[in-house]
Amino acid sequence: MTGQPRRIVRFLKATMMRYVPGMITCAEFDDFIVSYLDGTLPQKERRLFEFHIRYCRECREYLSAYRRTVELEKAAFRQVEAELPESVPEDLIQAILKAREPRP
Ligand SMILES: [Zn+2]
Repeated sequence: MTGQPRRIVRFLKATMMRYVPGMITCAEFDDFIVSYLDGTLPQKERRLFEFHIRYCRECREYLSAYRRTVELEKAAFRQVEAELPESVPEDLIQAILKAREPRP
């Protein structure tokens, strides 16, 4: 896209956000994103949020990047959990206790 149409699109978007009743701004979108993803965003805000995504490409891309990050974090956490042993091995406990004994 060349510079000119992009400026027009940005202008239209800014105008729409200012004059369409209830239209949220990109900053508000950012405030809603966490509640939206964990499902605690109230119905009304949720509709405004979804309306905003439909018309704002930047926020759409931001949301999908955000989702990917959350998924990666979850996957990483599951990985760490899976690698943790159920219990601490007995010989490790003994080794730690032995190391703590005062030396003569
Ligand atoms: Zn936006």
